[in-house]
Parts: sequence; structure tokens; C-alpha cells
Amino acid sequence: MKIVMKFGGTSVGNGVNIRHVADLVTQYSKDNKVAVVVSALAGVTNSLIETGCQAQRSDEKHIQAFTASLLKKHTDAIAEAITSKTIQKEVTEITEKSIAELEKVLTGICYVGELTPKSKDYVMSFGERLSAPIVCGAIRDYKAQSQFFTGKEAGIVTNSNFGEADPLMNYTTHLLRERLDPVMEQGVIPVVTGFIAANQDGIVTTVGRGGSDYTATILGVALKADEVWIWTDVDGIMTTDPKLVAAARMLPQLSYHEAAEMAIFGAKAMHPRALGPVSKENIPVRIRNTQNPANMGTLITKDPAANETKPVKAVAMIKDVAMVNVYGAAMVGAPGSYAKVFDVLGRNNINVMMISTAVSEANISMIVKRGLLGRAVSNLEIALQERGGLISEVTTEDDVAVIAVMGANMKGSLGVASKIFSTVAGKGINIRMIAQGSSELNISFVVKEKDGAAVVRAIHEEFNLDKA
Ligand code: ADP
Ligand code: ASP
Ligand code: MG
Repeated sequence: MKIVMKFGGTSVGNGVNIRHVADLVTQYSKDNKVAVVVSALAGVTNSLIETGCQAQRSDEKHIQAFTASLLKKHTDAIAEAITSKTIQKEVTEITEKSIAELEKVLTGICYVGELTPKSKDYVMSFGERLSAPIVCGAIRDYKAQSQFFTGKEAGIVTNSNFGEADPLMNYTTHLLRERLDPVMEQGVIPVVTGFIAANQDGIVTTVGRGGSDYTATILGVALKADEVWIWTDVDGIMTTDPKLVAAARMLPQLSYHEAAEMAIFGAKAMHPRALGPVSKENIPVRIRNTQNPANMGTLITKDPAANETKPVKAVAMIKDVAMVNVYGAAMVGAPGSYAKVFDVLGRNNINVMMISTAVSEANISMIVKRGLLGRAVSNLEIALQERGGLISEVTTEDDVAVIAVMGANMKGSLGVASKIFSTVAGKGINIRMIAQGSSELNISFVVKEKDGAAVVRAIHEEFNLDKA
């Protein structure tokens, strides 16, 4: 089989884990053709963003301490993951060079006092640029041939939507085949940085947080893989986040549709856009646990064979969101008034995740990412002044979470919504907003963030999600 294997940050968190990953890869590459995609070491992307933001505030003193600790983290990993002194030396040199470059970039940001989406992508790219050479070195240490590539070197070309870029799939496919197929034909295992790519001008882009999954499926489609395996720290996609509910159960099979829905609604185990490319080509995806390779994980295909018939399959909580309420008596019966509100948000690149309106039409409630709340409100207020009284008031709540209850068999099953809402009411928790898509694949509602975990637990229990 030809398999693209992606290892998340949790699977390459330190040298010992990287060595284990290299062991897995070399084992599987005996009978299969394997291409590897790696994330940054766990926590590194977050720390890069944090330091980039500090640099933007012209705070120079943190930079050197940060790059020194980053160097230590990676040289420690090299020492643990690789035994050959020659390979250790080679990888250490690459690491030192990358970190010296990062230090210059951060200092530059500090002087300019500006972290643009473009420079932020450049800063974030260092996480994967540091991990890939170590994983490649560890595979070589196991006496297999391996070569590492940045996403750009491998041939992933995206649009210039920095921070959330999408591939130019035809061009990317052509380049990936041209560059990686001959390497794989010679028995060399390519190790490609996840998450990062480049636009047509060769400027570094990223495909969104958690985007190494997306890189893996892009490679899977381009290289015509038989399967894409997403290796992580849990057994597969579960009925809910196992960190919230210990009794969460692995779902053995899911359709692309269901898995995408779960990814969009907070199941962090998968990047929301990752299933797009593979679902078109019908390439199966497995989510597997690096620490439990005996388990075959969750298989995601077009038509899962042993699909469960339960109406509710999973429940998730999305944090880091905020609610915006727009009021205005003048919106009532005024054609195009909603369009105007969404136009303001759309033009300012603010994605609305959930909408609910009152029949009276005097109010629209929307959920946006919490980080975009300020931009959403300020732009709506400007529009409020400009549009002659269409909107009279904008209010916000930034301490909310969305709870999404999912399952393809909810369609047409009576009483699911009432059971959900009475369960929440039974806990004495107030629901702030409700939405149900016409696909009937999910029912989502908003509660105060502090109540979110209790709601997830109550629904998991009420629908017996721990039992098949
Ligand atoms: P990786 O570093 O491998 O990309 P992530 O942290 O992105 O890993 O995703 C794995 C984590 O997603 C798990 O540790 C788990 O806590 C969380 N998670 C949230 N919801 C789910 C779910 N429904 N199924 C499985 N994992 C989930
Ligand atoms: N390192 C990136 C992130 O933390 C991409 C990934 O892990 O998939 O978002
Ligand atoms: Mg992830």
C-alpha cells in the first residue's frame, strides 16, 4: 500500500516519542510505500505565536531567552531520538541555522513593531521546520533512507490567504508528484513539514491551526495514496473529547460528512478542511494512536459499512467563541437587512459560525471566533452609524461556548432536540442561543463557557454515548 502518515505535535513532543515514531515508520515502510508529514513539537507553535506577539510590542528582551530555550528543547530531542553522532551533528547544524534565522525574524518584527498575517506565518513556520529534520534523522538512524522537505520544497502551493491558506490543488498535485514520487520510487521516505506551504511568489503561508492534517490529505490525493493515517494521542475520533469525559468511546467508522461535521464543531482530532481533498477522491483516512498501534483507530470513508444507527453519535464543545447580538426595529420587514449585516462582517473577513434570528426580525444573534469579536463589533458600529438607523444596538457576550450534538441519524428522529434541551434544563443551565442546520446532522446551542463541560457530560450520559 501507499500510505501518507501524519504525526501530530503530541506524537513528536520529545526525543523519546520521535524515536518511537521513527520506529513505527520504518516498520510500516518494509511492506508499504510511506510518505511522512510532521507537526511541530507539542507547544512550539503556540510559543512562537506568543513570542511573535511580544516582539510586535517591541519587547526585545524575551527573544534571546526564547530562542535559547527553543534550541535546548530541540537539541535535547535530537540527543534522545538519534544515536548516530554523525546524524546528530548534521541535524544540530540545521537546527542552529534555523533558530538563528528565527532570531533575526523576531528582532525584525520588534523593530518594525508589526506582526502582519504574512510575518506571523513566517514565524509559525519554524515549528515544523525544526521538527522535520529531527524526525528524518531518527528514521535514518533506524537505517532507512529518508529526506526532509518543507511544504514549499515538496511543492505545496497555496493562495495568499495567510493564516488559512488553501492549496492550488492542480499545480500542487503536479509538483508533489514530480518531486516526491521519484524519491519514493527509490525507497526513500520523504518527511514533509505539515501546516506550512508557500504562495505562488514563494512566500511562506500556513493552512490554519492544526493544519498538518490538511497537508497530509493534500499529499494523499496528489500522490494517489491508498490511505492517509493521522497518528495522534488518542485511539481515534471519540464520542466526545476524552479529556472532558473519561467514558468517551472510540467511533470505529465515520463518513467523511460526519467526520467533517465533528471537526468543524470542535473535535480537535481533525482539521476542519482536511477531509475536502480526500472525500473527492474517496481515499480512506484513519485516525490512530501512536501509543496504541495495535488499535486500527477510526476509519473515515464515503459509506461506512458498520455504521451505528443511534440518532446521536457525538457531542463537542467549542470554546474561544463569542456571541454578537444585533438589534434594530428598522430591520423588521426591510428586505436585505440581514444581507447588510453579513456583508459588513464578510468584507472584514469575519466568519460567522452560527446564526439565529427571532421571528420578530428585530434581532440577529451570531457566533464568531472570540479573537475576532473586537473587529466584528467595531465594524458593525461603524455600519450602524452609516446605514441610517438600520441597527440600533450591538451587544456581546464573550464568555460563551457552543455545544454541538451530532449524528447523521438525527435526521427525522423525533424528540432528540427536546431530550437535549430537557437534559440541559435539568442541570439548571440556561441556553443562550439555538441553531439547527437543515442538514439535521447537528443541533448546536450556546451556553456560558463555565457550564460547557457539565453540559457535555450530561448529554454524553443521557444518550448513553459510552455504549455502542
Ligand atoms: P495532534 O497533536 O496529534 O494533532 P490534537 O491535539 O490536535 O493532536 O488533537 C488530539 C486531541 O483532540 C486529543 O488529545 C483530544 O483531547 C482532542 N479531542 C477533542 N475532541 C475529540 C474527539 N471527539 N475525539 C478525539 N479527540 C478529541
Ligand atoms: N503546528 C501547527 C499547529 O499547532 C499545525 C499542527 O499541529 O497540525 O497548529
Ligand atoms: Mg491536531
